[in-house]
Amino acid sequence: MNIPCAILLEESVELGKNLYEKVFDLHTVRQLPSGAYQVLMGLHLIHEVTSPQAFAMLRERGLRVMCPERTFATVDHVIPTDRQERPLADVVAEEMVQHLEKNTADFGITYFAPERGDQGIVHIIGPEKGLTQPGMTICCGDSHTSTHGAFGALAFGIGTSQVFEVLATQTLALRKLKVRRIEVNGKLSPGVYAKDVILFIIARLGVKGGVGFAYEFAGEVFDAFSMEERMTVCNMAIEGGARCGYVNPDQTTYDYLRGREFAPGNSAWERAVAYWESMKSDPDAPYDDLVRFRGEEIEPMVTWGITPGQSVPVNGTIPPKSAFPEHEQPLIEEAYEFMGFEPGQPIAGTRIDVAFIGSCTNGRISDLEAVATLIRGRDFKVAPHVKALIVPGSQAVKAEMVRRGYDRLFTEAGFEVREPGCSMCLAMNPDKLQGNQVCASSSNRNFKGRQGSPTGRTLLMSPVMVAAAAIKGEVTDARELFQIG
Ligand code: SF4
Repeated sequence: MNIPCAILLEESVELGKNLYEKVFDLHTVRQLPSGAYQVLMGLHLIHEVTSPQAFAMLRERGLRVMCPERTFATVDHVIPTDRQERPLADVVAEEMVQHLEKNTADFGITYFAPERGDQGIVHIIGPEKGLTQPGMTICCGDSHTSTHGAFGALAFGIGTSQVFEVLATQTLALRKLKVRRIEVNGKLSPGVYAKDVILFIIARLGVKGGVGFAYEFAGEVFDAFSMEERMTVCNMAIEGGARCGYVNPDQTTYDYLRGREFAPGNSAWERAVAYWESMKSDPDAPYDDLVRFRGEEIEPMVTWGITPGQSVPVNGTIPPKSAFPEHEQPLIEEAYEFMGFEPGQPIAGTRIDVAFIGSCTNGRISDLEAVATLIRGRDFKVAPHVKALIVPGSQAVKAEMVRRGYDRLFTEAGFEVREPGCSMCLAMNPDKLQGNQVCASSSNRNFKGRQGSPTGRTLLMSPVMVAAAAIKGEVTDARELFQIG
């Protein structure tokens, strides 16, 4: 239900502030002549793909990194997941890693290298290390930086020239966003996961619905979510067009952070929690828009098209063109043609060739646990025609997976368990679709060519749904296969 913005704003005059406004205002250095704001960045995460040119620009101008102690690096996009021994077989990838090593050494930046045992996808290691904290401003040269909003941070994906800007000044020019509060109340049904929640939200609000907005995710479903589930949702806020997405911090946030390497220590903890609490949206905070959904209306979702907004419940059918506004219809036709679907066709039963569980959306230990719990002790095997990859999001996730024995479980079921990296999410490494293969994927984008083949086709879904598709060899309702609920 949309509540008219005017009413919300009229009432806002005497009211409190939401988290977005508080954090934005606290970090604003000044308003620029352009009307944008110069905003201090508390944390800058970098990786091998979008940073080399930015460091070259620093060198050209004879500049140093303004806050190396607030800048952290890892390697994730190009790193292969089969063997990571150096030198890497791909010469370009090896060069990119070497640039990152040199740049971080020259400029005094901490680099979470594979050799240290703490490498991983940039949006997985930030939280894992306790670097991502409530009330912070965070940026990274990757679109899915919105992930960090799960902690009540304002986190922005930026381009290479902005990476340079932040390295040189620790600030970023930002326009102020409107804030839409998205409440999901009630309870999710068994077999419905955080991934389904965000795919559902994007399907309802559209891939451009969030343009100009920050999304505040709230309500009983988010209150009950773990931090990892909140990260999955915030990760894909950008796919709904929002510049960032966040969840207000609470005890779940503090429990996750306590004791992590870069989290405040015992002496600073109480002060930190008091600050974090003060950053929460006030109960009477105004919003530019408010949307409410019920958890009970959400089903396991599967994308059928070429944007993350083109999805249907697993027992649904490919929608007719007439279900979309006229301006979207050319894109819908393009999606039918590219994906090979006809309107009215059920999505369940779509044969798949590849299954991918991983990425910064769903490559965390809880994602692997959800799958492991369902296949343990049961004679499930990956279908013979399916190549199924499980790629942990970080070396820490992998270590935990091995400690729990999931690697053996997955391997015995016919999955290939790989080394950490972005893998088939973006396919800037050897993990690529071939020809027009169809991939059931737990990643975040189903754009044409996203998984490495210009004609490869991606169906986004939750890790449990990917596992079910891998086993059946086709899109299937995981609730039935695994007898969930
Ligand atoms: S997993 Fe995908 S979205 Fe995430 S950082 Fe890597 S390439 Fe980007």
